[in-house]
Amino acid sequence: MRVYSPEDIEYLDRRALEAVQLLRLKKVIAVALATPFYKERLGNVGIRHPEDLECMEDLRKVPFTTKDDLRDTYPYGLLAVDKDEVVRMHASSGTTGKPTVIYYDKEDLSRWTGLTFRSLRACGCRRSDVFQNMMTYGLFTGGLGLHYGAEEAEMFVIPSSGGNTRRQLQLMKDFGTTVVHATPSYMLHLWSQMDEAGVKKRDLKLRKALIGAEPHSEDLRRKIEKLFGIDAYNSYGLSEMNGPSVAFECTEKNGMHLWEDAYRIEIVDKDTLEPVADGEVGELVLTNLIRHASPILRYRTKDLTRIMPGSCPCGRTAVRVDRMMGRTDDMLIINGVNVFPSQIEDVVMKVPEAGNNYRIVVKKNGTLDVLTVELEVGPDILSDDTRDLYALRGRLTEALKASISIKPVVEFHEPGQLPVQEGKAIRVVDERGNLY
Ligand code: AMP
Ligand code: ZN
Repeated sequence: MRVYSPEDIEYLDRRALEAVQLLRLKKVIAVALATPFYKERLGNVGIRHPEDLECMEDLRKVPFTTKDDLRDTYPYGLLAVDKDEVVRMHASSGTTGKPTVIYYDKEDLSRWTGLTFRSLRACGCRRSDVFQNMMTYGLFTGGLGLHYGAEEAEMFVIPSSGGNTRRQLQLMKDFGTTVVHATPSYMLHLWSQMDEAGVKKRDLKLRKALIGAEPHSEDLRRKIEKLFGIDAYNSYGLSEMNGPSVAFECTEKNGMHLWEDAYRIEIVDKDTLEPVADGEVGELVLTNLIRHASPILRYRTKDLTRIMPGSCPCGRTAVRVDRMMGRTDDMLIINGVNVFPSQIEDVVMKVPEAGNNYRIVVKKNGTLDVLTVELEVGPDILSDDTRDLYALRGRLTEALKASISIKPVVEFHEPGQLPVQEGKAIRVVDERGNLY
């Protein structure tokens, strides 16, 4: 069987697809057993050898893996290959100080590239396209992830990374960019800056936007399409499952094909953790079938979605998932960056001048998200001399930026000024409206 052939795998019938999955799962189980973490977890349910799994259904015996497991095994507890085999790492926010780190060996990266290549092809990208990748290059997987797939597809790649909107627009104009990869909120921001940058819609050759990394509605997609006169495709991924190209829309734009040859999908009830009925919304649970340096089995993504009914006219057999409908935890996605309130609390609690109450407020300023941390401080620091207050604001802003990778606005309040809730404190106020 040609297991890694790029595109024909997308049209396999279910039986053949499951056969590929099982083959790949067994390999992943074999490497997972090399880590003390999975050796114990799998051993507890009687899996000591890959052959202890006879069919894909047997995967359900395996306990779930969570972000906390990744934190508890930080940094190398889940590394299943020799450190010399690792050629790259990526990281995402953890719930507290420690990030979630993922390792890739050379073959892991080339298998991931295969997926990003396929995703780009599925949404109609061609060799003649000029691809401007506005996702941040770095520990975040958004930038480098699609980069290599685009090169594999022999597109003309402009690795412009995130930010610097004027330059982005200039590049788009000067190099005739036809495809961009960005967060949906950044697409709107680009649009809002065009006048000032002296770039007109007719100066652009854009025909597609690949939008992902943050939740967005169908209305927002349509708005982006209408403003620029382009097609926009939803792209879903998470670093625990490599990064972008876990699920991607094809040119039919009717849900994202979840690349089942690479990821085993389950949708479970978020409370009972039992499978939901076909087509019902639940928590997406994924097993990575193609990565050996960091095997992750039955990962609770905390993202809510459903499997879309029927088959896709494009003929691809991989199931389609609906756009993400929310999260089961309190993770915020602010301009595409994941932020856990607990990360902010960790920093705030270390400030000796902090009073008893704080709030995290997320708002829209134009098209972009703004995070404000409102903090009550003791009366001493609120004296007439504002120098201490400025210094504290500077320190806190920097400490928060170091922890969550985005710069918040820090506001101080007198004791008792912030609203107090009876019962459980409401620390997070999200005023961005309908995200999902
Ligand atoms: P990271 O691991 O930092 O790439 O973050 C992954 C998370 O970003 C996912 O678990 C989702 O909550 C969110 N995310 C990524 N892509 C999308 C998308 N297309 N729609 C909604 N949320 C997304
Ligand atoms: Zn399709």
